[in-house]
Amino acid sequence: MSKAGAGDRTRVTQAGRDPAAHHYTVNPPVYHASTVLYPSLADVAEDWQGAYTGLGYALRGTPTTQALQDAVAELEGGYRALVVPSGLAAITVPLLALLRSGEHLLVTDAVYGPTRRFCDNDLARFGVETTYYDPLIAGGIERLMRPNTRVVFTESPGSVTFEMQDIRAIAAVAHAHGACVLMDNTWGTPLCFKPFAHGVDVSIQAGTKYLAGHSDVLIGLVVCNQATYRTVRAGWTNLGVTAGPDDCNLTLRGLRTLAVRLEHAQASGLRIAEWLRSRPEVQEVIHPALPGARGHALWKRDFTGGAALFGVILKRGSFDAVAAMLDGMRLFKMGYSWGGYESLIMYYPDERVLRVATRWAPGGPYLRLHVGLEAVDDLIDDLREGLDRYRAAGGAA
Ligand SMILES: *Cc1c(COP(=O)(O)O)cnc(C)c1O
Repeated sequence: MSKAGAGDRTRVTQAGRDPAAHHYTVNPPVYHASTVLYPSLADVAEDWQGAYTGLGYALRGTPTTQALQDAVAELEGGYRALVVPSGLAAITVPLLALLRSGEHLLVTDAVYGPTRRFCDNDLARFGVETTYYDPLIAGGIERLMRPNTRVVFTESPGSVTFEMQDIRAIAAVAHAHGACVLMDNTWGTPLCFKPFAHGVDVSIQAGTKYLAGHSDVLIGLVVCNQATYRTVRAGWTNLGVTAGPDDCNLTLRGLRTLAVRLEHAQASGLRIAEWLRSRPEVQEVIHPALPGARGHALWKRDFTGGAALFGVILKRGSFDAVAAMLDGMRLFKMGYSWGGYESLIMYYPDERVLRVATRWAPGGPYLRLHVGLEAVDDLIDDLREGLDRYRAAGGAA
């Protein structure tokens, strides 16, 4: 079982904290602020010049938002981070900041669904053209680069279907053509994949998932390298999208236990993935960290772990057979936003997995599982009973 690096296990407990600056309280206080006062007119004038080092206005940051930004930037290995009110905003803000009308964007075909919607509906309205590419394309992305290609958007593994991308190969081509590389690194978390060491320019975290970790916060982090930071920060400021102090505080609180939660969930997830693979109702388990699974070689080269989130293709069965399984689950409940302490299961009929550059044809009902912090034996019992119901309803006949 892979673990977060030893350095990171300590780093999650330290990053973004400075007790001496806050009366030696362990955690930074939660600043509820809109207006921030200026000590003198000279300070106001400095702010007009863009040279003021005080806060200025809470939209641009407070000690609470800065603590979270500093912590996540350090863990991801980036230059600086910006906090936004959702994972989706962490995708839309850098795209809006970096692209202009007449430019071209390359997006992995296995991208998070709402990212695709934003590109097709909103960026298209602003005159930005999107081309989707095979997530397994690697250096072959060369043939899709155009003179006006400004951004290559990656997500590894892919949302729902878990294709592993060769980020290093893609980044080398993108940079040779003057484009920058964005990556949705939510599955890898800041602990298990280091985007900046692999050539990524802007890394995206849906902090809603493992960082906050308790299914009670929507938040996102945009982590930039030095070259992109000024542009992305300007877009972020102009769009007016910081996150609230209580949500930042909950996320900092979640972050402190990220390594232990993740290690526990990963171990349970791999055990369940192996157990599922041995079941007669199961055609294939798609989990990049599982030896022998699709994408495992790239995962092993680049990742040290990842989310307890993976796919399972069942042998053929009807919608009603899937419903018999899912409706009766005691612990694995149906819902989308993973990374909390609770286990989840979701059915994705083929037509709900949108693809334009590639084909998705699993050949049987496809389920996505998120393994939470419950006792793993209880989770396996729940799945065993569920698969029994699937078969009793005519599935995997
Ligand atoms: C959930 C998710 C998002 C969006 O996060 P929200 O906070 O729900 O907006 C983005 N990318 C990935 C990969 C996700 O799983």
